[in-house]
Amino acid sequence: PSAHEVVYDITVGPTPGGGALCSFFDVTEQELIGQLRRDFVANVSHELRTPLTALLGFIETLQGPAKNDANARERFLGIMSREAERMTRLVRDLLSLSRVESQERMRPEGVVDLSGLLASVLTTLRPMAEQAGVTLELTGGSAPVKLRADADQLTQVFHNLVENAVKYGTPGKLVTVSIGREAALPGSPGGAVSVAVRDRGEGIEAQHLPRLTERFYRVDTHRSREKGGTGLGLAIVKHIVNRHRGRLRIESEKGQGSTFTVVLPLG
Ligand code: ADP
Repeated sequence: PSAHEVVYDITVGPTPGGGALCSFFDVTEQELIGQLRRDFVANVSHELRTPLTALLGFIETLQGPAKNDANARERFLGIMSREAERMTRLVRDLLSLSRVESQERMRPEGVVDLSGLLASVLTTLRPMAEQAGVTLELTGGSAPVKLRADADQLTQVFHNLVENAVKYGTPGKLVTVSIGREAALPGSPGGAVSVAVRDRGEGIEAQHLPRLTERFYRVDTHRSREKGGTGLGLAIVKHIVNRHRGRLRIESEKGQGSTFTVVLPLG
């Protein structure tokens, strides 16, 4: 069986200006953007309507048939609170997405120590990993690795990737986060650092790889929902990596697991 890999080479470049041909392209691009926006609004509406419908249904039942049923009340309130939490996560991720999109062309200002940042992401996620029976391991993070970056945004990138590795990983197995060096990226001569998040979970079939960073794209909608996913995590990752002029590489083999590698320029 062969492993599959996709590289998101997402560099923001200047758009060619002027000329009749370009204005023709501009129009089609406008149409495409309009279509994407309509799809996005339809998706958001659908994602919000699902938990709302469930909530309204349970409220009706609690006001009517189950009015005096203490057991049902207990159970339904549990479900209702999970649905409300789902909506909260969705709104939180939508706000994040809108923020990272609007900042995509702004150069990150801060200086971040990647090793320390990863260590603290793992500390935050350790309780969740323990609950899932997954062990988190960090390698190559003994020395500080300084780079120009937005600390909150990079935290979000690795939080999302490690959380996915735990969610879609296999209990009893390791999730490894490794810091390494890579050849310089085009346009950034100062070398590059890579962070690979590897799980030994179910893996992803090749045909899905190029679409994973689309908003609301899920390989298995039911499983994602069950795990509390919003379908926006990797879209957020993509925009942040883009802002940092980095690259996202996804390798996966069905049944063996997946590796999500973020490569960031050092200079
Ligand atoms: P979600 O909130 O659904 O997890 P993401 O944008 O983070 O949304 O991921 C999109 C989809 O990619 C997921 O629904 C899942 O199908 C797939 N996916 C992401 N990470 C992994 C992984 N480590 N292993 C297997 N599938 C994954």
